[in-house]
Amino acid sequence: MKNVTIIGGGIAGLSAAYYLEQHKTEDLSVTVVEAAEKTGGKLQTAYENGFTIEGGPDCFLSQKPAVARLSRQLGIYDRLIGTSEGNNGTYILSGGRLHELPEGLMLMVPTKILPFAMSSLISWPGKLRMGLDLVLPRRNSSGDESLASFVTRRLGKEALDKIAEPLIGGIHAGDPETMSLKASFPRFLEMERKHRSLIKAMLAAKKKVPATAQKDNKTTYFMSFVGGMGELAQTVTDRLQDTEIKTGTCVKSIDYHGDKYTVVTATGEQWETDAVILAVPAYAAADIIQEMDKQIAQTLRGINFVNSATVSLAYDRQDLNRSMAGFGFVIPSKEKRDIMAVTYSSQKWKHRVPDDRYLLIRCFVGGPKNQEMVLLNDREMLDKVHAELEDILGITTQPVLTKIFRWVNGMPQYSLGHLERVESIEQRLERFPGFAIAGNSYRGIGVPDCIESGERAAQKILDVIK
Ligand SMILES: Cc1cc2nc3c(=O)[nH]c(=O)nc-3n(C[C@H](O)[C@H](O)[C@H](O)COP(=O)(O)OP(=O)(O)OC[C@H]3O[C@@H](n4cnc5c(N)ncnc54)[C@H](O)[C@@H]3O)c2cc1C
Repeated sequence: MKNVTIIGGGIAGLSAAYYLEQHKTEDLSVTVVEAAEKTGGKLQTAYENGFTIEGGPDCFLSQKPAVARLSRQLGIYDRLIGTSEGNNGTYILSGGRLHELPEGLMLMVPTKILPFAMSSLISWPGKLRMGLDLVLPRRNSSGDESLASFVTRRLGKEALDKIAEPLIGGIHAGDPETMSLKASFPRFLEMERKHRSLIKAMLAAKKKVPATAQKDNKTTYFMSFVGGMGELAQTVTDRLQDTEIKTGTCVKSIDYHGDKYTVVTATGEQWETDAVILAVPAYAAADIIQEMDKQIAQTLRGINFVNSATVSLAYDRQDLNRSMAGFGFVIPSKEKRDIMAVTYSSQKWKHRVPDDRYLLIRCFVGGPKNQEMVLLNDREMLDKVHAELEDILGITTQPVLTKIFRWVNGMPQYSLGHLERVESIEQRLERFPGFAIAGNSYRGIGVPDCIESGERAAQKILDVIK
């Protein structure tokens, strides 16, 4: 019997294990090794006093099919929920005031003239500059380009500072000046290549959405689960019938001798395995394969990470004396605040609070410009968050519950040249049969991307083992 060791029990590693169980054609022994006491990686949902509190992702993009597909296989498709209806705008803090994102703004591209013209977010010169996208030529060079350069070139500096940086860059907790567009948002490049203008491309995409999809009110742009995103990771873990899961086990190194790999843990335990899927962040992967291939380890270390944290706070609505509009707001770095974004979790999703008396909100802290804040102790971090909430929303009351999740080195940065780095890692790994990498460090950070990367890695192993 052949055996496969999967290192890392985040959603990428778990999806790889599940794929192996579903697709293996011969006896295969699969082990998932996870350093933490619990599987799921960034997919952590806490359940406290009737509150459902997300630590990492709170949703996934429904346009990417991997989560819905996996949910069907797991039998939890009926547990999917869309964002709540009504009261659903997104706001941007600019000049200390919250401005609603104009209706029809798709990602960062305006598709409806009137709401965009009426919006208080962008100045008139800024709006005219964004409109120039309709007539500006394509870029003629094909080299990698940063998000900042692309947005400034097509839509202008104001669109970059007020919309793209907090909204698009914020998805990666990244710095638009160094973020590779090709690696992070290839869709924008494709739009320019095909339609020249982003506005024209978005209008064409809107026309293409079939009428049934527009009417289907179950599927919203972002989706989650009744029990939060942790439900997905927990269900995959529970459904792994033939897989050994070793939690609380940190892998220190892997070595390759001809046709077998030796896995060594931090406590000195070791075993031989025919195949390996390395589904840990790139910096951890670098340490693990340092002895096996120094060159790959060095390239892996070229992928940088930033710290982030989420701070959830629940309030009794009666104490707040005000209602909150929409699903929350994002904050451009130019505003120089201690928080990056705020989600009104219980307004965005059902099933997050024990009853409607409460408001659950989640603040994002850290990112490339404020990394040290993630290292503050709980009291210091909460003081800073409270100060911002008081200043922006006028909240002076004490929350009835707080919960902090810290993600040190939690967000990989796809900086310029990222895809070339990944290609060179993958090419050099060809010399190690039965060895694959997976996870958010390489070809997509979203939960659906990570599921697909785990499944691709598992298929690669099955091809070799056959
Ligand atoms: C705050 C936050 C919000 C996010 N929001 C969203 C969102 O709304 N939607 C979305 O789609 N994505 C979101 N993401 C991104 C997404 O959650 C992650 O990219 C994805 O979950 C990563 O999965 P993974 O399996 O690649 O890695 P991880 O979840 O990081 O899993 C890797 C696992 O490897 C383990 N490990 C590390 N080293 C070792 C070792 N030496 N030995 C054994 N095990 C080891 C770790 O403990 C970890 O469990 C968010 C991320 C964060 C941090």
